[in-house]
Amino acid sequence: MAVKPGYYPDGVTKYTDPFYKCVCRKCLHKFWSVTIDVVCSNCGSTDVFYDFNDDKANEEFEHLRQSKSENIRENQSKSEFIRECPRKSEKGGAILNRLGFLILSFLEKGEAYDRTSAMSVREIADVEDIGYKDNTIFKKVSELVVSGYAGTGYKDGKQKTFFITEKGRNLLKEERSR
Ligand SMILES: [Zn+2]
Repeated sequence: MAVKPGYYPDGVTKYTDPFYKCVCRKCLHKFWSVTIDVVCSNCGSTDVFYDFNDDKANEEFEHLRQSKSENIRENQSKSEFIRECPRKSEKGGAILNRLGFLILSFLEKGEAYDRTSAMSVREIADVEDIGYKDNTIFKKVSELVVSGYAGTGYKDGKQKTFFITEKGRNLLKEERSR
């Protein structure tokens, strides 16, 4: 391609144009360039913002800087989260702590597979003494219902009853095959 007179080899930038203010989107390096075929002189990335306008370049820089630090923050809290609750990062792990696993096992053991065979918290607790209060079991089994691993059955008097769903049984199978 012939170079237009008065233009840089990129064919877009005139000799009389001011420098482009460039911001590398990868490493946030700020630099100037004469042409638009910009390569970051720091990291070599070609993903570079450029504009004649200084303010716009600064704006872009601030914007990039903020989203970068947000990313870093997000990643940090994510890794903290994973460190604190390693199981939470796994499929079904959030729900299936020891108690969740026990409850599902007990429902399975009690053959509580549908609304009519569902068990009350009292019945679940009676399968085996696992040292949890009924309240705690109730809370956990309610979580299991919300996430679809358990369902609610017909009431036994005033008491709610629970059964293990197909999804819950699959989860147990998965857990046991670990
Ligand atoms: Zn760079």
